[in-house]
Amino acid sequence: MAPTSQRIYDAIVVGAGHNGLTAAAYLARAGLSTLVLERREILGGCCVTEAIAPGCRVSSTSYIASMLRPEVIQDLHLADHGLRMVPCDPAIQVPFPDGQVVSWWADRERAKKEFGGISAKDAQEFVRVDDQLKKLARYLQPFFLEPPPEIDTGSLSGWGDLLRVGKRFRSISPDEISQLVTFLTGSLGEFLDNHYESEKIKTMFLANNVYGKHGGPYQPGTAIGLLFHLLSGGEHELQGFYGHVMGGMGAISEAIAAEGRKLGAEIRTSAPVAQIDVRNGRARAVVLEDGSEIRARMVLSNADPKRTFLGMLAAKELPEDFLRAIAGIKMDGPCAKVNMVLAEEPRFRGTSPAATKLERTFYTLVPSLEFAERCYDIAKFGDIPEQLWVDCVVSSNADASLAPEGKHILTCFVQYVPYRLRQGTWDENRELLGDRVVKKIAEYAPNVPQAIVARQVLTPLDLERTYGLTEGNIFHGDLRLEQLFFMRPVSGWSQYRTPIAGLYLCGAGAHPGGGVTGAPGHNAAHQALRDWKKGRLKEAVA
Ligand SMILES: Cc1cc2nc3c(=O)[nH]c(=O)nc-3n(C[C@H](O)[C@H](O)[C@H](O)COP(=O)(O)OP(=O)(O)OC[C@H]3O[C@@H](n4cnc5c(N)ncnc54)[C@H](O)[C@@H]3O)c2cc1C
Repeated sequence: MAPTSQRIYDAIVVGAGHNGLTAAAYLARAGLSTLVLERREILGGCCVTEAIAPGCRVSSTSYIASMLRPEVIQDLHLADHGLRMVPCDPAIQVPFPDGQVVSWWADRERAKKEFGGISAKDAQEFVRVDDQLKKLARYLQPFFLEPPPEIDTGSLSGWGDLLRVGKRFRSISPDEISQLVTFLTGSLGEFLDNHYESEKIKTMFLANNVYGKHGGPYQPGTAIGLLFHLLSGGEHELQGFYGHVMGGMGAISEAIAAEGRKLGAEIRTSAPVAQIDVRNGRARAVVLEDGSEIRARMVLSNADPKRTFLGMLAAKELPEDFLRAIAGIKMDGPCAKVNMVLAEEPRFRGTSPAATKLERTFYTLVPSLEFAERCYDIAKFGDIPEQLWVDCVVSSNADASLAPEGKHILTCFVQYVPYRLRQGTWDENRELLGDRVVKKIAEYAPNVPQAIVARQVLTPLDLERTYGLTEGNIFHGDLRLEQLFFMRPVSGWSQYRTPIAGLYLCGAGAHPGGGVTGAPGHNAAHQALRDWKKGRLKEAVA
């Protein structure tokens, strides 16, 4: 197979998701000639804004920016490239079947007052727990932007890693250690039952803490979300930041891409990579689906671990136990998305007539922990729950530029559907899912069904086909303890390197995981650059 061009890039990034773009921008900033190859006709991966009707744009997949690393925002000058985020306030808002709407205001005193109207005891506890969680989250925060330790007591670097972790925790108290273990291993439901009396207050915590992952709220390991969401994010490093992105989530990817291009990176869309070519255990080129070959000194894959190692590499190039571990990563994405254009604004019952547009933007439809647990149980056996948990964002209320005058954008995340259906296929059941989502919304906002002028239903299968997410998993692998930190993507390979020299993983399948953070891209690029500076990769493979 003849190479398409004689040029050898220093680095090729496979995939222009926001992490691939982040990695490319850092590599280009360090002076490396860098090429990004994206299979879709549009860049951004799951951090994208797309038209679903003439003049109507939507964050088709991810829709809220929460943990985008402040360092990435600053290093890559994203504000200079037009990135603007407006804090979600309320950060969470739950309308209950009895007509009451409870809002978790960004200002803690205001939130405490709101919760106090339901339970004075819970409002006090809310402040105490919030302080405790924020303090614990600060211990974890520094790990976000660095490789996890490799547990290898047989090597000097392994001991160095352990020392680095130990130092971070030197001021931790015995009490805090047990709290940390509880959050890492315990269930969200039991934690909430132990601390709060009101079902409504408990539900407020439920709304964002098992987001996108497997397991009902009573499953061990679900309390970890409480800490995860308090890692600081946004321009101003706020703990628990939630933001609406002006122009939709794609504005994040576009801003990163703009900085990358300014630094010299090339970005090609409609360029699907079929294979990563390896010679003598070292990555040497990629082969596109059209058969053309492009050479590089190193390759970073933004695709998920299964797609990368089981799809783009010949099995003979990888150790058997590594392949087995990759094949064993828990994926089968439990989520879906339904995007709509409406002819009128949804009117959620119980919303105060004085509520501003921004306050009429975000509604989470889940009435209780028990509801959520039952919903997961149904989905885990392969059925589409009749009663769905739906997160609704009227994004045109936060950003009027998304739709023409008189039109409104409603983007809905559906928590707990099966990737593998027990009966039938997703192609047969796509509209059934859309209808159930609309029916659920109508219970709270009865004007929605008649107002729909366009509807896009993205089942887990569509997330796989269109966005390239293996098994539709939105995080490139479930966020569960045994798939996090030094176990992500698999044990022994958490530092972005892979068994192939010069091949790195730079997407959400690597530490610290999914979400629009830019962290895996940042960390992988820095790891690759460390190896580059040691001179390991400068010679291209013949
Ligand atoms: C429905 C949904 C809702 C979500 N909601 C939120 C949210 O509100 N907030 C949040 O923070 N996170 C959310 N997430 C999660 C978040 O969007 C992802 O975890 C994150 O965007 C992953 O980024 P990434 O760059 O690592 O990977 P991706 O965005 O998956 O990008 C990988 C890229 O690689 C490309 N690619 C794959 N294979 C090839 C190949 N062979 N050749 C060339 N290119 C290839 C893909 O096309 C894709 O563009 C959501 C995700 C989904 C799907």
